[in-house]
Amino acid sequence: MSSPETDDPTGDIHPEEFRRFGHEVVDWIADYLAGVDRLPVMPDLEPGALRTALPDRAPESPESLEAVLADFREQVVPATTHWNHPSFHAYFANTASGPGILGEMLAAALNANAMVWRTSPSATELEEVVTDWVARMLGLPDDFRGVINDTASSSSLYALAAAREMRLPESWASGLAGAPPGRIYTSEEAHSSIRKAATTLGFGRDGVRAIATDDDFRMRPDALRDALEDDRAAGVRPVAVVATIGTTSTTAVDPVADIAPIAEEAGVWLHVDAAYAGPMAALPEFAAHFRGWERAHSIVVNPHKWLFTPMDCSLLYCRRPDQLRAAFSLTPEYLRTPELASGTNLMDYGVSLGRRFRALKLWFVLRRFGVDGMVSRLREHVRLTRVVQGWVEATPGWEVLAPCPFATLIFRHAPADLDEAALDRHNRALMERVNRSGVAFFSHTEVRGRIGLRFSIGNLRTTEAHLRRTWGALESAAAEG
Ligand SMILES: *Cc1c(COP(=O)(O)O)cnc(C)c1O
Repeated sequence: MSSPETDDPTGDIHPEEFRRFGHEVVDWIADYLAGVDRLPVMPDLEPGALRTALPDRAPESPESLEAVLADFREQVVPATTHWNHPSFHAYFANTASGPGILGEMLAAALNANAMVWRTSPSATELEEVVTDWVARMLGLPDDFRGVINDTASSSSLYALAAAREMRLPESWASGLAGAPPGRIYTSEEAHSSIRKAATTLGFGRDGVRAIATDDDFRMRPDALRDALEDDRAAGVRPVAVVATIGTTSTTAVDPVADIAPIAEEAGVWLHVDAAYAGPMAALPEFAAHFRGWERAHSIVVNPHKWLFTPMDCSLLYCRRPDQLRAAFSLTPEYLRTPELASGTNLMDYGVSLGRRFRALKLWFVLRRFGVDGMVSRLREHVRLTRVVQGWVEATPGWEVLAPCPFATLIFRHAPADLDEAALDRHNRALMERVNRSGVAFFSHTEVRGRIGLRFSIGNLRTTEAHLRRTWGALESAAAEG
């Protein structure tokens, strides 16, 4: 093994060393992506396994990149759960596509920090370009403007901060203490990030009112209307309604077209959480699920979920970006620049000052796939999900637990001789057996008190052959217990 070069005057590695290992890394990535389906999806390890295998402090003197890469291959990769595996079906399956990975590598090289326009005109303006492109692809009206955040949790937090600014403007100066309580309305099926945002913003746990859902897990507009009326009569100040298109548990779709007029009448902010299902708005045959979302004040869509973009990339759209800016613009003297009034300064649209060049990878993805390419892959994921649903429905002892509007099927094995408590234990155990086998990876959810497995299809490399193998693994794991 050669000793590390330390003679580069910059203190960094020599450009030729960079070139050599850069090629090696790219070769590794190409082989990894081509052969990822031969790896176990989830490693069969106990917590702490990697930590105890690695030294407890950094090396005193330089090590060679050969040594680092060897440990990456031998220690880090085997302790990794492979989200890019075609048999990853837990949570929401996603893909870091090749173009997205290349864009991410270049973003690291540029190391742009788009705090204000002049600190990175390209990162600032490409963010405007790609968020506009996605808005058009999804059929959003032209007045929606997007910014890119790390996650939907941040995007929803920022949207609700803007809602607080619109509805309780005095809170900017005096906070919420002593004032009548503000409240956010969302369905009992909403993502936990809405509750986290509410507590972070000072509304407290009681600042979220969970609205009942119907038999298909959709927010009930009549229950929303009643809750708003009750609260107003009780002196509570309604701040925002959060509707979800594609809930995290069952991918249910709240009736936004019926919710929007209720929110408008109450004068509150309407935020639509479409972190998972948002990309489906590009498919005309799914338009009904998105009816009314154009009336929202804000919408979140995650390209790192179902638009083939590597972590992290979450788009927050606001119809009135000035309202978002009102919640976050706070410019100290050292950040004042001549362009402050004319150019976009991304620091004004969220908590973080520093911002990664996330637009670059999305731009690579959108251009290399094209809208048609994306739409046809999304359509294929829906088709594959219907294939799996057909197997579940046609096989005695298995059942679907919830409607499946997109590409995430909630199902369980339900042999007739087990009671409900035993069925929950049985399904947890069979999921654990499959996950530990490394053949496929599932997560679970609770549907009206029953434990179900979530079969999410969203990886570009998933084929029917992978799904047949996984279905076989599920059937044999079910037979064992
Ligand atoms: C995944 C998801 C989130 C959270 O997304 P992060 O980007 O991980 O914060 C929020 N809402 C819905 C509906 C989701 O599916």
